[in-house]
Amino acid sequence: MRRFSTSNLDSLGTQFSIPITADQDGYLGRECPVQGCLGYFKITPGTGVKGPAPCYCPYCGHKGESNTFFTQEQIEYARSVVLRKVTDAIHEDLRSLEFEHKPQGLFGIGFSLKVKASAPLPIRYYREKQLETEVVCDSCTLHYAIYGVFGWCPDCGVHNSLQILVKNLELARKELALAVTADPELANHLIGDALENAVSAFDGFGRKICMQKSADIHFQNIAGARRRVQDRFGFDFADSLTADEWDCAGRVFQKRHLLAHKMGVIDEDYLQKANDKSAVLGRKISLNHGEVESAISIVEAMGQRLFAGVLPAIP
Ligand SMILES: [Zn+2]
Ligand SMILES: [Zn+2]
Repeated sequence: MRRFSTSNLDSLGTQFSIPITADQDGYLGRECPVQGCLGYFKITPGTGVKGPAPCYCPYCGHKGESNTFFTQEQIEYARSVVLRKVTDAIHEDLRSLEFEHKPQGLFGIGFSLKVKASAPLPIRYYREKQLETEVVCDSCTLHYAIYGVFGWCPDCGVHNSLQILVKNLELARKELALAVTADPELANHLIGDALENAVSAFDGFGRKICMQKSADIHFQNIAGARRRVQDRFGFDFADSLTADEWDCAGRVFQKRHLLAHKMGVIDEDYLQKANDKSAVLGRKISLNHGEVESAISIVEAMGQRLFAGVLPAIP
């Protein structure tokens, strides 16, 4: 009598370690375990914080053990690999029961048992998804990718909004640099565009970080934003500016408003708010290289202050 042996199955043990590796671009997919979020993002293992570190969801800021951030697809893949190993082992063990008794004598009956190989269980391979923004964290050098633009660094938990603002302001400065050598018409366009980009970068940045604290504040109207931030957060993001700098910021933001909505033609609203002595109703505003350059630096200073005041740490 053959004895049934489970040696193949036993040799697998009771714990499995299935490696989840990075894709061809070096990215490893991650998924936030919080039910209301389940945000998908990717990181490049080996960049960022050295040694064991918790993981932060870039979207909701949830902090947890790194091994709680596997994606559904990675889990299904690992499960399928385990199932395959187990079924293969069981199959091998069953083969130990195989026998064949030839018929004996004239009226003998023969018996046999053959274990037939059935189709092996499929491995659920997966592919990481394409994301929209790739970021290298300024604080810990982690390479990561997210949907949208703004998020918390998955390794060190620093919000990237200030980093993105600074990068956009750098682009606006490059536009200004191009304006120096461009013909006058193009130069005007580049200067106006640099201003528009700086203001919308500041607006997007400011809104985003205030939203993290459930405050809906817009930053295109800089004087209004200053008041609202003071009311809501109890600090003044322009407190490091001189009176002249604040004046410049207010005027240049008003100029941007005219350029974006009034074809740059001066209206009553501008005359009242911009404190611009050279302005004449119905004429086009003038915008020069120097004042946009100053405005970009002022925006950067306000951005630093706003960030430190609203979002000093992880939620
Ligand atoms: Zn999340
Ligand atoms: Zn980081």
